[in-house]
Amino acid sequence: MNLERGMIKKWAEFACRSAMSRHSLQMAPAHRRKRAGTHWSERALTLHAAFPRVDLEWTFQRYEGLRARLPQAAFERLPMQVDDLSAVFDHYDAFVLDAFGVLNIGETAIAGAVERVAQMRAAGKRVVVLTNGASYPREAALAKYARLGFDFTADEVVASRDLAAEALAGRGGLWAAITAPGASFDDLPARVEALEGDAALLHHADGFLFLGSEGWTPERQAALEGALRVRPRPVIVANPDIVAPREDGLTLEPGHFAHDLPGHSGPLAPAFYGKPFGGAFNAALARLGDVPRDRVAMVGDTLHTDVLGGRAAGLGTVLIAAHGLFRGLDPAAYIARSGIVPDVIATTT
Ligand SMILES: [Mg+2]
Repeated sequence: MNLERGMIKKWAEFACRSAMSRHSLQMAPAHRRKRAGTHWSERALTLHAAFPRVDLEWTFQRYEGLRARLPQAAFERLPMQVDDLSAVFDHYDAFVLDAFGVLNIGETAIAGAVERVAQMRAAGKRVVVLTNGASYPREAALAKYARLGFDFTADEVVASRDLAAEALAGRGGLWAAITAPGASFDDLPARVEALEGDAALLHHADGFLFLGSEGWTPERQAALEGALRVRPRPVIVANPDIVAPREDGLTLEPGHFAHDLPGHSGPLAPAFYGKPFGGAFNAALARLGDVPRDRVAMVGDTLHTDVLGGRAAGLGTVLIAAHGLFRGLDPAAYIARSGIVPDVIATTT
């Protein structure tokens, strides 16, 4: 059975009205949305001066434009709305937690998230972090979670960088990496050099590895697109996200740029590792032992990566509304427009 669009729309109208009466989440009127967008984009404008302004509406439309390339899923129920994840402990035996927008915003832990993870453990729940953050090796990612107060072990973290590393294993040649300046590649099982600082790699690298977009510019994107048109080569994308929420705005991420590269219909189409694609969920489930998929909740802040991908993988889904992509806005209208319906909407982690 698939939910009818009309039914989702009716639910969304009702959800928006009740949200306004509760004053907890507001359906922003157009003028407020515009102002919020301007605020959200400040950091993005600093990092990516000539790229389009990014706000929720822009991001939503970008994901919708890419729907044919994303996993497909059918949705059967309207969402249940709760205050936080403790309200659905009875429904699930394990939680797969997105990082950005669920555990942290940039370098800051979300209030109450450390305590909620401890509460999950005390209730006997299994936890795994499933993140599309790929700029840094596993050790650095674990150190960051520890700095924020979390106690995740190496076994409890699945990063899309590790999935891309598996894809690199056994492939020869020289790979040019697009990533934050000064990043290390010691954890990757291939010959990898930073593209930054060696433009000649555009021509003689055997493949490209897109890890992070910090410092990426329209000129560098155009140069990569040009080089791939002259000589098509494999591109491994270790972060399929379009944007990421930081303390003061949304930044454009590798998925956005990779979807613009040439070759999507051919044999050298960019290969995406991470949510919403199935391999990421399989890797997370492998860490959970034999918990049935419908007793596992994918918890995330985006409809097109966490909820769509989680549902396509057969998991339950929880959308966190208050911190990530939907911060300050009611997701109901976006749920109705996309037809991507989480099982649960939780205000906070
Ligand atoms: Mg997220």
